[in-house]
Amino acid sequence: MDRPVIRKDLAELAVRPNLEDYDEGCADFDWTEARRALAGLPGGGVNIAHEAVDRHADGPLADHEALRFVRADGSVRALTYAQLSREAGRFASVLRGLGIRRGERVYSLLGRRPELYAAVLGTLKHGAVFCPLFSAFGPEPVRQRMEIGSGRVLVTTRALYRKKVAPIRDALPELRHVLLVDGSGATDAAAEPGTLDLVTLLAEASDYGPTAATGPEDMALLHFTSGTTGRPKGAVHVHDAVTAHYATGRFALDLHPEDVYWCTADPGWVTGTSYGIIAPLVHGVTAIVDEEEMDADRWYRILAEQRVTVWYTAPTALRMLMKAGTERIAGYDLSALRFVASVGEPLNPEVVMWGQEAFGLPVHDNWWQTETGGIMISNYPAMDIRPGSMGRPLPGIEAGVLARDDAGAPVVRDGEAVLCEPDATGELALRPGWPSMFRGYLHEEERYRKCFAGGWYLTGDLARRDADGYFWFVGRGDDVIKSSGHLIGPFEVESCLLEHEAVAEAAVIGIPDEVAGEVVKAFVELKPGHEASDALRLELIGFTRKRLGPAVAPRLLDFAPALPKTRSGKILRRLLKARELGLPEGDTSTLEAGR
Ligand code: ATP
Ligand code: MG
Repeated sequence: MDRPVIRKDLAELAVRPNLEDYDEGCADFDWTEARRALAGLPGGGVNIAHEAVDRHADGPLADHEALRFVRADGSVRALTYAQLSREAGRFASVLRGLGIRRGERVYSLLGRRPELYAAVLGTLKHGAVFCPLFSAFGPEPVRQRMEIGSGRVLVTTRALYRKKVAPIRDALPELRHVLLVDGSGATDAAAEPGTLDLVTLLAEASDYGPTAATGPEDMALLHFTSGTTGRPKGAVHVHDAVTAHYATGRFALDLHPEDVYWCTADPGWVTGTSYGIIAPLVHGVTAIVDEEEMDADRWYRILAEQRVTVWYTAPTALRMLMKAGTERIAGYDLSALRFVASVGEPLNPEVVMWGQEAFGLPVHDNWWQTETGGIMISNYPAMDIRPGSMGRPLPGIEAGVLARDDAGAPVVRDGEAVLCEPDATGELALRPGWPSMFRGYLHEEERYRKCFAGGWYLTGDLARRDADGYFWFVGRGDDVIKSSGHLIGPFEVESCLLEHEAVAEAAVIGIPDEVAGEVVKAFVELKPGHEASDALRLELIGFTRKRLGPAVAPRLLDFAPALPKTRSGKILRRLLKARELGLPEGDTSTLEAGR
């Protein structure tokens, strides 16, 4: 298949100040070298909070804006690195005062509020382990995840506590302290039995305190995966992960202190921590925090008014902006924007090209997982983009596509997994050993062990690698469709549907069929101004048949008002399939409301 390429003019890029130090290929890179770029703790060891704020607070960036919160009315409140460091210090002092020990787990159930950032950094400074939850979780998903991690402290709001935690409090004997960020004074908070008022505690706490002398392998973060496939998995990350946040922030996002950077990820998801907090702060940028939910006009206004230079978002958000129409951008000055990146789901080529039209910039896809802790494969800033490709592995990362046997397991010979030929589909795998790699699923050793075979970490995703080393996403292992001997990746079919002017979003699943094994069924959400009809159904099927051939094109197609998605914005194909086949829906705790 002929694939378009968006060429980058390196000569032109080189004159842009923020790409000056960009070294394509980064051939000399090694992780030891990257560690040297970090400060390290004065007495030895490494602590994420020290790298992210404390060292800046003692240096030339002390008065530089670290976080800029944008409120609903568009007004802003900023915290400098020095102020953020003091806030984090106060939170660490609160934990000390409460007798929380190193390694114990502090959870958050919070939106993007200033207290969240103090809590993450203060927890790490104290040497405790931070675990964010989606604030939209109901009581049971909260209970399950708090139980797995033996949460000692929970930081939340009064309303969320009442609705989601109070009903399950008795089932969490290890939860000692609930800290409310919106208690308006000790007396008032006392009205909520069993909670403490964080505002009062912070006001009374010292903003100065020791940073725990954590080592690189000490546990720092516990992140639950998105739950696209079911049962929650708690991925354990250590303080050395900051080395990867630093390197990927540089190579994949091109961050510099003069950048105004905006990551739109929910703070309950790994992206919210790795790239919403740690990577940008380590690089000394000014990070925008939008306290509100997604809305096309609001987002354009923030990009324009805050002069955002680097924007990190997700395919689902970009598709929503596409649906809203390019004309919505008119009137917003987005000239400060120099780099747009996306993560979380496959990025359809159509969306990359739309970025080029809408922003004058392509969207740079990058691939990673909760387990990898940081970006692994990316369309680097200075490399030619192949729309629809995830890009190439970052410096220090070795990725491969492993051949699979009939049962879908990697083929291993003499202890070493066999790699596929170029352009053949296999399981995407990574050589273990990068700093942000998860060190386990908490309390699930067997599940962790099963992620490795023949010298590789198995990602569970299927991909192809072309002869030039670009990786192409095919589908999640469990979403791939087998039809008449063909292996069909939902992404290819969905991307084709998206090329049709009527289609806003599409999801594709396999339906059992006596003859073919499975046939492809598509679910389509239409753009405004288009009506569902039998004629349009036939037209869309014909459209994909012409482009993909009858073996791959959907046989069946339904219109859906909204596709089911996780809170991190991923289409839940397994749920569509369960509903279609009348099977139990399984774990839907991360399902967005109303889907
Ligand atoms: P669970 O493991 O609980 O089922 P999940 O895999 O969706 O949930 P995450 O770790 O948040 O949880 O998501 C990682 C997955 O998201 C990847 O394995 C991949 O399937 C998908 N993904 C992320 N980025 C991309 C991308 N750029 N292109 C294609 N897929 C992506
Ligand atoms: Mg996963």
